[in-house]
Amino acid sequence: MSTGHIRNTHAMSASPRCGARTRGGFACSAPAIRGKFRCRMHGGARGSGAPRGNRNAETHGAFTQEGIAERRAIRALISDAETLLAKIASD
Ligand SMILES: [Zn+2]
Repeated sequence: MSTGHIRNTHAMSASPRCGARTRGGFACSAPAIRGKFRCRMHGGARGSGAPRGNRNAETHGAFTQEGIAERRAIRALISDAETLLAKIASD
């Protein structure tokens, strides 16, 4: 008669697994790093992967409402100055 108990490994095997393809052709299936989809050996390690955010989407702010209004005000000022100078010159 066996007295050995059956190990309850459900919680362990239910954790997300690494899906990286190994050289054997199967999925790695080692536990994935928390918050990632790969194990520590397949790109899940701390410090690995692309930097956070999308720097390609960063804008320079030249076409914000504020930027456009500022350039419009400068152009109006230059226009006024030119008008005044022309008036002075014609006198
Ligand atoms: Zn892996």
